[in-house]
Amino acid sequence: MKYISTRGNIHPVSSVEAIKMGMVPQGGLFLPEEIPTISLQQLQQWKNLSYSQLANNIFSLFLKDDFSENEISSITRNAYNREVFDSDEITPLKQLDNQLYIMELFHGPTGAFKDIALQALPQILSGALEKLSITNQLLILVATSGDTGKAALEGFKNVPGTQIVVYYPFQKVSKIQELQMLTTEGDNTHVIGIRGNFDDCQNAVKEIFSDNQFCRYLLEEGYEFSSANSINWGRLFPQIVYYFYAYLSLLKKRQIELSEKINFTVPTGNFGNILAAWYARQMGLPVDKLICASNINKILTDFFQNGVYDRNRPLVSTISPSMDILISSNLERFLFEITDRNEAAINYWMKDLREKGIFELERNLKNKIEEIIFAGYASEKETMDTIQKIYKRYQYLVDPHTAVGLKVYNDFQNLYKDQTKTVVDATASPFKFNQSVLTALIDENNVKNKGELILLQELSNYSGLSIPNNLKDLNEKKIKHNLVYDKKEVRKSLQDILEI
Ligand SMILES: *Cc1c(COP(=O)(O)O)cnc(C)c1O
Repeated sequence: MKYISTRGNIHPVSSVEAIKMGMVPQGGLFLPEEIPTISLQQLQQWKNLSYSQLANNIFSLFLKDDFSENEISSITRNAYNREVFDSDEITPLKQLDNQLYIMELFHGPTGAFKDIALQALPQILSGALEKLSITNQLLILVATSGDTGKAALEGFKNVPGTQIVVYYPFQKVSKIQELQMLTTEGDNTHVIGIRGNFDDCQNAVKEIFSDNQFCRYLLEEGYEFSSANSINWGRLFPQIVYYFYAYLSLLKKRQIELSEKINFTVPTGNFGNILAAWYARQMGLPVDKLICASNINKILTDFFQNGVYDRNRPLVSTISPSMDILISSNLERFLFEITDRNEAAINYWMKDLREKGIFELERNLKNKIEEIIFAGYASEKETMDTIQKIYKRYQYLVDPHTAVGLKVYNDFQNLYKDQTKTVVDATASPFKFNQSVLTALIDENNVKNKGELILLQELSNYSGLSIPNNLKDLNEKKIKHNLVYDKKEVRKSLQDILEI
């Protein structure tokens, strides 16, 4: 299977080339030339597969031209096992009531859903380097709003032939997120704070990718770029697997009939996770609505409601920081697909976005999208209230991102009285955002000014859940990274750490 650009500006390339490049050098995102489809019979046959077996089957659809069956099954077995994830099911499903289920995507090494793709991507990239006979070091640049950074650092730590550089918005991630990143070991890991917000980090990385002169200079020094953000197709397609897995779990537990449609609710930032759900739907998974949940940085809600994407607004820091994003990169892929792959339209909109910070859809297209996507948002207070309400009603603890999803699902429910079974993605462990979660549950004064590690223990005492292993020993770990740069100094930061 070949990979093409959303902007039609590159000849089709192989999967390993697309994943190695990360994005199209002239701008544009890679996606497969054809979307594979899965029949209902096949779904039925997949019902009893383990997560890693299912991943194996789905990975094969996208990688089989370049990787052997053995190679693919070795990747999925290494990524999805009980040593890496603290659940046999990898992404276990919890039932809250007759029609509401939570898919826990946070059982990986860093407590956020990004682990699922980032346990596979480094292996795929290593394979790609070998197949493309690349002897240069691969320089993985990552912009993070908090969770991708640590997940990527863990995935790439000590992977031969790679250097991983993570840019995070300095002082704009949770304390736990920051500690997780700054204590990363490994001799190929680099963490850099940027004075700015996530969009500044993401823009800086994208700009470097398309700076030919700087790329050539690095190439002469023996480095080539790649990306571990969801702009990289290799980050995106592994996420398709858990949507299938959730459906098959419901089928196995006889909660649904084969071919019965279900909804997915996804707390959304860069539009990567929800796009993976859309691809699952497109591949034939019986899915009705995709519910796109935002925090008060509700650019996507406005877009889906009015057809106007307008990023001329301030980015606000929230208690769901991994969704504090105004440039949802993967929307480009979605728009390409929903326009039946109209690259001219994409070029036109992206030009408007670049030059005016705004673009607008025609009404027909907006209506077409509305049949699939319901979008809404949660304010900060609504997010806190939801954490409390869900705990009271179901004794189930959610993090602020997941709470945003549940709030918007509740809005959808109130509006449509929909009876469809719905799976809400739980994108992070509540322990990762213990301060907000505890503040929602107990008197604020008992939370204020307490250290992160005390709060971890208090949340554990309150909920009776044990602290995830990966967070338990954070305070014993040494801080290994301490660099902070201005957003204009990203090139210099690379020269400094690579000593070139
Ligand atoms: C990254 C992240 C999101 C947003 O996912 P996208 O794929 O960027 O839309 C939501 N919640 C958490 C906890 C995250 O880490």
